[in-house]
Amino acid sequence: WTDLPELDEAGGEAPSQAPGGALPVVAVVGRPNVGKSTLVNRIIGRREAVVEDVPGVTRDRVTYEASWGGRDFTLVDTGGWDPDATGMAARIAEQARVAVELADVILFVVDATVGVTDADEAVARVLQRCGKPVILAANKVDDQRTELEAHALWSLGLGEPRPVSALHGRSSGDLLDAVLEALPQAPPRSEGGSGPRRVALVGRPNVGKSSLLNRLAGEERVLVDPMAGTTRDPVDELIELGGTTWRFVDTAGIRRRDRELKGADFYAAMRTRGAIERSEVAIVLIDASQPLTEQDLRIISMVSESGRCMVLAFNKWDLVDDERRYYLEKEIDRQLVRVPWALRVNISAKTGRHVDRLVPAIEKALASWSTRVPTARLNAFLNELVAATPPPVRGGKQPKILFATQAAAEPPKFVLFTSGFLEETYRRFIERRIREEFGFEGSPIFINMKIRE
Ligand code: GDP
Ligand code: GDP
Repeated sequence: WTDLPELDEAGGEAPSQAPGGALPVVAVVGRPNVGKSTLVNRIIGRREAVVEDVPGVTRDRVTYEASWGGRDFTLVDTGGWDPDATGMAARIAEQARVAVELADVILFVVDATVGVTDADEAVARVLQRCGKPVILAANKVDDQRTELEAHALWSLGLGEPRPVSALHGRSSGDLLDAVLEALPQAPPRSEGGSGPRRVALVGRPNVGKSSLLNRLAGEERVLVDPMAGTTRDPVDELIELGGTTWRFVDTAGIRRRDRELKGADFYAAMRTRGAIERSEVAIVLIDASQPLTEQDLRIISMVSESGRCMVLAFNKWDLVDDERRYYLEKEIDRQLVRVPWALRVNISAKTGRHVDRLVPAIEKALASWSTRVPTARLNAFLNELVAATPPPVRGGKQPKILFATQAAAEPPKFVLFTSGFLEETYRRFIERRIREEFGFEGSPIFINMKIRE
């Protein structure tokens, strides 16, 4: 059997997903040039080479699926942001603060051959009181001799420095063991079924996230001063809606006003990724009064690639007149073709219009996301489908679907065992028909083909 890449709406690779959704998150922080990217590449074994050219959607990935000792986790590389030299210590500290918000474990990388710098100390101060496990990697310890230099890093006040050579792999296994040990035990966050379901409220700046959050939470809150030091809001908020309690993840990131900060866009993008990773369902907020932007599309494909279910909330509907509405429909037809399954609601966080339609939409999306199609029903359906519309002949042979099964839910994943290659158009046809037959509104689905040679 030959494995073929899984297929989703964006044509990208599906993440290996623990049932129930969120994987624990490990964030790699440290100043430039200490070897963060090298370390990340070593940990993920260079599996990052999946770069998708979706027109109008650039993918600047900083999160990766990684695995060690049988545990899967999400690795976030904060190295993508290159701060300029002036005021570097403060900015790196801010970067660390973001990492702390979104991660379960922080992997702090220091260059042992250089020793402790001001920037390292600034990061250490943030990490010392973050209340989350911190693993201190003393990098560039390429040989025994350099190992002594790693000891100097005890002065950071973060416990034992762990010597490693990201470049050569020396002791990288030990480092990962330490990371593994620090990962939250059992399911990282409440699994589906027990505990509130996790909702990410995402969207580019100014679409109305904090306005909607205030409306949903039922009170106007005082927004915290972003520079006000160390006290932070709780990262998540539990909000009761329609008789059910929901966990809105990373609302601290929404409530914080750090737009004027250098690199604010980068932080916003990282928070978005972090929130999506932690969620089961994402509400993508869009400013309906403005043309769709590339940033909107990028966030939407982030959600579908991550395998979360999705509701598109077109906000500021109070500003939408007939003309705008006409153009919006055109934009949706043209630009959201890859996510025809996403549920849509038109709301106004300002007036409250149709905000009560959000909960039924996310409930429906989650129900689709959890759906399991019984194997017998799936095969009966596909047999009929293939009999009526057989796959195109390739090289004189008629490929057959021998057997199919839904291998997973949350997100739904199907595996087709075939006797020959099925063209992409045919696989998309199958996906469309599966959706017509079994629903899955609001949820991405993934179809994987295994070919018998
Ligand atoms: P980042 O800016 O923190 O992501 O750092 P990079 O991963 O880009 O590495 C910066 C430089 O340090 C590169 O030239 C790497 O080859 C080098 N480097 C990374 N890890 C090691 C290591 O373990 N030993 C040595 N000698 N060099 C390393
Ligand atoms: P965020 O950056 O996504 O959190 O967006 P905010 O909630 O701060 O909203 C940005 C601006 O849009 C503010 O001036 C809000 O008052 C305004 N706004 C938010 N929702 C609506 C809406 O539904 N209608 C109108 N007219 N303005 C809105």
